[in-house]
Amino acid sequence: MPSALPTTIQPTSPPTTPTPGGPTPHHPSTASAIAFAALLLIALFIAWRISLRTHPWTRCPKCKGDPRSYHPIFSRHFALCPRCNGTGRVLRKGAPPQ
Ligand SMILES: [Zn+2]
Repeated sequence: MPSALPTTIQPTSPPTTPTPGGPTPHHPSTASAIAFAALLLIALFIAWRISLRTHPWTRCPKCKGDPRSYHPIFSRHFALCPRCNGTGRVLRKGAPPQ
């Protein structure tokens, strides 16, 4: 009795699903987004460093730029801000020493 089924057997390839714990495929858009974010952070860091060199001073946070505190009764007497030594300005964080 002749068989109606084909006699050739095609080899099947194993499924190409990634194994758990194995290397995960990198999505191209995710990699480019990470590269863009890294470049943006580097550009912001460089801009911050340039800003520190061109404008190293900021207003004193203790006296708000007004370093004289006057006596409540003797209005001609005053004290200077101890944080900024009476200058009303302090160096920004990260600024090079002057
Ligand atoms: Zn001050």
